[in-house]
Amino acid sequence: DIVANVSHELRTPLSAIKGYIETLEEYVQEEGKRFLKIVQKHTERIINIVQDLLVLAELEHESKVVDRKDIALKQFVENLLTFFRHKALEKGLQLELQADDNIRMKGDPFTLEQMFFNLIDNAIKYTERGKVTISIKKEKDRVHISVADTGIGIPAKHLPRIFERFYVVDKSRSRRMGGTGLGLSIVKHVVLHHNGTLDVKSQPGKGTQFQIQLPLSP
Ligand code: ADP
Repeated sequence: DIVANVSHELRTPLSAIKGYIETLEEYVQEEGKRFLKIVQKHTERIINIVQDLLVLAELEHESKVVDRKDIALKQFVENLLTFFRHKALEKGLQLELQADDNIRMKGDPFTLEQMFFNLIDNAIKYTERGKVTISIKKEKDRVHISVADTGIGIPAKHLPRIFERFYVVDKSRSRRMGGTGLGLSIVKHVVLHHNGTLDVKSQPGKGTQFQIQLPLSP
């Protein structure tokens, strides 16, 4: 409760700080602009952490998903991908969705969006060349989701811990990328809330694949 309340209370002052930094940009000169950029980067980092903490606190508070809706998965992920196309293009990465048509599941759109968002965001963040492939297939009464990349990979000794809160493989890289160390822990909670399972396979230097199975209905 405290984490949720504090995060909630921090949102308004943080938005104000962010807004005033943007206003200040017009008033300061050269050297000042450089300092302001640094302040802005740190403020955005706090905003990201607060946002992730709020989602995590809610997920840990509710024992199960209450707000289940009928979701057309292909459409759902296609919509989300519009957000990532530019980012992928900028890095020269292919972004591919292989999804069966007409897969529908009952789930919570808000948290499922967080799940896909965090996995795709990571895949793009931790990949310098090649591609990111999202695949969605139906098998009996379950949907199999995979988010795979051709990125830096994760050394085997870290794999058992990456779903822990604030656990990152390389602290300075994660920070540089704007990470919070909370993304995968949110993913794990969303999967558990939907009574699903998740697995990760990775080879350093070759890439990483996250595999998720969710029941189509509760
Ligand atoms: P972060 O905000 O640091 O990305 P996450 O909880 O999302 O935190 O991920 C935890 C750590 O797992 C990351 O810091 C990174 O080291 C590793 N990781 C997650 N996804 C990938 C990926 N697709 N490729 C390589 N490493 C990854």
